Amino acid sequence: MEGLETLKQWVEESNNIVFFGGAGVSTESGIPDFRSVDGLYHQKYDYPPETILSHTFFMRKTSEFYKFYADKLLLEGAKPNAAHLKLAEWERMGKLKAVITQNIDGLHQMAGSKEVLELHGSVQRNNCMKCGAFYDFHTVKEKVERSGAELDAKDPDYMVPKCDKCGGTIKPDVVLYEEGLDDDVITKSVNYIANADILIIGGTSLVVYPAAGLIDYYRGKKLVLVNLSATPQDSRADLIVRGKIGEVFSQL
Ligand code: NAD
Repeated sequence: MEGLETLKQWVEESNNIVFFGGAGVSTESGIPDFRSVDGLYHQKYDYPPETILSHTFFMRKTSEFYKFYADKLLLEGAKPNAAHLKLAEWERMGKLKAVITQNIDGLHQMAGSKEVLELHGSVQRNNCMKCGAFYDFHTVKEKVERSGAELDAKDPDYMVPKCDKCGGTIKPDVVLYEEGLDDDVITKSVNYIANADILIIGGTSLVVYPAAGLIDYYRGKKLVLVNLSATPQDSRADLIVRGKIGEVFSQL
């Protein structure tokens, strides 16, 4: 595979790698991305995914939101693949400083990574919008399923998880369209990228802003892109490895 040997050598020589990734990192774990041919944007829904995953839609059509969310994003049983595992191993070896991810699936932490900056939040954390009570992934999944089994599909609360303490609606700690990113996560990400020796970008179409703009802060000369398809930033890369990220990382 072209570029693989160079990447291998760069990784061996470095102890300041930063990884920036997206949905393509988890497709080999069975979670669909947005823009690939079998991604969510090419499947049929009553509304486009960007609309469903927006703040306005969540507030106005909460039941519709949870139907999509439960079907496509609240996926149980997904396991980290070779890419997640290799990144966690590099961190343990002191080679990698941080994983910055647009993913919300929690697979990097499951693989053992500690410094994970989640730009778009996580399905693992959920809070009641009224009283703030915390709920984990499994509890929310159970509540969504129970409400789906008990209520009529036309009921406005169909599949909507409700708080045990106050009855309020539970919202995932996921950054929806129209919502802002966490300042602290952004600042840390910028710092890691600005000081990185190697920046490896993988499994992202680099079209979702402001996340994609973070790579502008990289000042080094080892910008690596590991992606199945071309991105608008390919011309800026010092090295491109075209392939499945799990397969590529298992050879590093
Ligand atoms: P995207 O769907 O826009 O792009 C995915 C990119 O990854 C594409 O360029 C595709 O060619 C590439 N890709 C797919 N499988 C790959 C593989 N095995 N190896 C290498 N490359 C692969 O994803 P994005 O850029 O992350 O932006 C989409 C938004 O969707 C993000 O904001 C993210 O929050 C969200 N999202 C997250 C998940 C998740 O948490 N797993 C899943 C879907 C969408």
